[in-house]
Amino acid sequence: MTSPIGILGGTFDPLHFGHLRLAQELAEGLVLGEVRFIPAGLPAHRAPPFASPQQRLEMVHLGMDGNPLFSLDEREIFKPAPSYTVETLLDLRRERGAMQPLCLFMGADAFLGLATWHRWRELFDLAHLVVAQRPGVAGITRAAATLPAELLDELDRRLVNEPEAMRDAPSGAILVHPVTALDISATQIRRELAAGRSPRYLLPDAVLDYIRTNGLYKDTYGT
Ligand code: ATP
Repeated sequence: MTSPIGILGGTFDPLHFGHLRLAQELAEGLVLGEVRFIPAGLPAHRAPPFASPQQRLEMVHLGMDGNPLFSLDEREIFKPAPSYTVETLLDLRRERGAMQPLCLFMGADAFLGLATWHRWRELFDLAHLVVAQRPGVAGITRAAATLPAELLDELDRRLVNEPEAMRDAPSGAILVHPVTALDISATQIRRELAAGRSPRYLLPDAVLDYIRTNGLYKDTYGT
């Protein structure tokens, strides 16, 4: 079976070291051939981003800094309507064929809300789910009281302990994988900028230079 492909969706408003480190550690931990960053156009689950699609795309491109493991996928970002992960995965599945393992990455915070996603159960037919334990969020375990019952059911049936399981099938497993705790969020970066403070060392210099050159996030009022 070919190397699994990792998929990291997000608003990347802006891209920061939390995203990059997550992608790097999962790529190495799971021995993936590629991680695709797929910036959302109009995200379905949250308020519209502050930076434009083009700006977010450029920030992801700059922040990836030519890492040969990373690629940038533009299929969602310019769509005028919200794109749903299930549709993006259907597209990728059509392109890459039935046997290609796909691994959808998400932080533990995103996983907790999975049961509210559009056609969420179909995601398991299309990809594996790799949940990165993000700092400050309760761990994902079978005993997690915070998980809704239907998600707990899926976790019970699908949880695997070894990254190798991602190679045995094209989709359907859930792996919880630790990543180095970097308690960085795009919200925090926007806040620092709006307050006139520097978010330096939370994100790549090239992304910060782009933000400054384009005058982004000056007016986000702490949101
Ligand atoms: P915001 O603060 O605007 O909500 P964010 O920093 O959470 O943004 P997103 O673009 O929404 O960034 O995140 C994309 C994906 O990356 C999500 O699955 C999210 O859980 C994960 N992620 C973001 N920051 C981190 C981090 N510091 N560590 C691990 N995962 C992260």
